[in-house]
Amino acid sequence: MSSSIRFKAVEEAQNRKAVAVEIPAERPESYYAKAVFNRRVMFEYLSRDTFDALVDAIENKKPITRSLADNVAIGMRRWAIDNGARHYTHWFHPLTGGTAEKHDAFVEHDGGGGVVEEFTGKLLVQQEPDASSFPNGGIRNTFEARGYSAWDISSPAFIMGETLCIPTIFISYTGESLDYKTPLLRAINAIDRAATPVARYFDPEVKHVTPLLGWEQEYFLVDESLYAARPDLVMTGRTLMGHESPKNQQLEDHYFGAIPSRVEAFMLDLEIECHRLGIPAKTRHNEVAPNQFELAPIYEELNLANDHNLLLMSVMNEVARRHNFRVLLHEKPFKGVNGSGKHNNWSLGTDRGTQLFAPGRTPMENLRFITFTVNVMAAVHRHNALLKASIMSATNAHRLGANEAPPAIISIFTGSQLAGILDVIENSSSEDLTDLSRKAGYSLGLAQIPEIMIDNTDRNRTSPFAFTGNRFEFRAVGSSANCASAMIVLNAAVADQLEDFRQKVDARTAAGSTLQDAILDELRILIKASKNIHFDGNGYSEEWQIEAARRGLDCESSAPRIFDSYLSEASIAMFDRTGVLSKVELEARNEVKWEMYTKKVQIEARVLGDLAINHILPVAIRYQSSLLDNVMKLSTVFEKYKAAEMSRADLDTIERISRHAGEIKKQVEEMVEARKRANAIADEREKAIAYHDNIVPAMQSIRRHIDKLELLVDNEMWPLPKYRELLFIR
Ligand code: ADP
Ligand code: MG
Repeated sequence: MSSSIRFKAVEEAQNRKAVAVEIPAERPESYYAKAVFNRRVMFEYLSRDTFDALVDAIENKKPITRSLADNVAIGMRRWAIDNGARHYTHWFHPLTGGTAEKHDAFVEHDGGGGVVEEFTGKLLVQQEPDASSFPNGGIRNTFEARGYSAWDISSPAFIMGETLCIPTIFISYTGESLDYKTPLLRAINAIDRAATPVARYFDPEVKHVTPLLGWEQEYFLVDESLYAARPDLVMTGRTLMGHESPKNQQLEDHYFGAIPSRVEAFMLDLEIECHRLGIPAKTRHNEVAPNQFELAPIYEELNLANDHNLLLMSVMNEVARRHNFRVLLHEKPFKGVNGSGKHNNWSLGTDRGTQLFAPGRTPMENLRFITFTVNVMAAVHRHNALLKASIMSATNAHRLGANEAPPAIISIFTGSQLAGILDVIENSSSEDLTDLSRKAGYSLGLAQIPEIMIDNTDRNRTSPFAFTGNRFEFRAVGSSANCASAMIVLNAAVADQLEDFRQKVDARTAAGSTLQDAILDELRILIKASKNIHFDGNGYSEEWQIEAARRGLDCESSAPRIFDSYLSEASIAMFDRTGVLSKVELEARNEVKWEMYTKKVQIEARVLGDLAINHILPVAIRYQSSLLDNVMKLSTVFEKYKAAEMSRADLDTIERISRHAGEIKKQVEEMVEARKRANAIADEREKAIAYHDNIVPAMQSIRRHIDKLELLVDNEMWPLPKYRELLFIR
């Protein structure tokens, strides 16, 4: 009966064949970035003067004039129409996560009853989408009800379907950011300003320092029929109930295993789509959990890389549908199965082609490597609580600390080689180094470094933030997150640290110290001061939680309280010094964070309540009643003692069902009451805390009882596809 939906879905999923992919006849190099208004296309569609002026504006971060915008718009429209576009949209990244777009057709009245297709510089440069439908944390109420989007010339326009998408920032009328891109661009500028003078200590020719990002996107795939049969997946992106499958990932047979043919077809299709959009997709493989996969591109400049990740997340959804899959980007769709993250491989590069976290061949190159690496460690140490806040969300909270992901404590893995180098520097006195450097030509600590090749095979999967040879890998980022959230904080914190470092080094050299001594003296102080952030051990262990608390690292685990770190004095001052976010913006953003947290949990609680009461309980009761029926029949056929003996198993199950059903009923009612109390709280922070403290544990408890029922109730009657059915694509 009720299970017929489930069995039909399971059957459909099992009979599904791989969908044929339209493979282009040409090689990737000929269709790569075909849908992107990049320099090659600009050169073709813009006049020489316009092209030069635009490139100059992009490279030197200059504002563009109205007449330049008009000229670009003409070329861009011509290109878009040549490539089949009929609409255009300003594409931006609201605080809800994901991307937003409002499409307008190019058509305008021609004055004679017909239409012409038009696109002006004004429309390219700026629009006024109705800001009231996006979260703003009260900024609009206190200021002005309008918001506008403005073209980000550093990220190229592209065509999705038949729409020209123009990457934009989204800000309030008074200039406060209402999106992720605006502060990200500010953080990128802050890094450039702060890191360039430090990079010049080692190479006076450096003009710019640019952050680079290579993300690795993890995701789950579920067959669309099974997905449709799970209202919790449809409405919340994760399963709110479901007993563990007898087999899931114990055998570790999925990671790097053969990719199922349906999935391979999906991946190929996705890759082709990525390449057309100029996303340099490179790596694809199975992940640890069944049905879990990963896609990683080649790293790019941070702003572009982030646009590409956001674009990928929407492209994935579309391509998956063509293959009768649904993509789950939730950080923890299945309890007891590994969650999904989005590792952010981050580094700093110069316009001279050097990577600032890469060891070099000469002592000076190595001093540069150590300088930048130690400054990152100092920044991460000082702002560990804030960095944790940057990756925290209602959904990622399920993954962190869940025994297959780093705990909700930020620490840095360095590997033994880097740790050894830092030790040498810390324990050498200036005199030692100077003395030795006179004898040896250069200092002992530095002379040793070139002999050491840093290898990045030294991998500790339990660390939330790891040094991996020439970059740092921030692994605590959630799979559904906008990477900008983490990258804004990381880049701002490192910029602030580098600026402080430069001032101190300059003060020392002004006082007569050599540059090398000044740098080493400052590094020694930083290494000592930020030691506590360094941890190469097992991040999953309980001892680490105790040790981390002893070291004074932030161990708060409640998401709404973790958000408080954005408003600490140290954070506000750091964002202010770097010009990345104002106090008004920080306060507004936190309102949005708390509100989003509450809403997510609220929706989940409602869905769970409904499913418990009208999917699970009726089935449990029906099964129980069939058992009771059997018991009664036994008693009419067999004599009393024999019937009692024969009914024992049934009676036991009947009682257990009663117990769980009774608890579910009672606890759902209590949860509804707790929600009413929480909803009455006006303060967003307090409300989110009430949801965290009271609703989340209630949901876990209800789920435990439902999962027990799943094991008791007749499989034929169970209404929702089970984990063993959801998790194994054929
Ligand atoms: P892993 O072995 O960690 O899973 P992957 O090859 O899947 O590694 O992904 C590594 C990511 O790191 C890729 O996106 C790659 O381009 C990126 N990457 C490599 N070097 C750098 C660097 N110097 N800066 C930033 N990202 C980098
Ligand atoms: Mg990685």
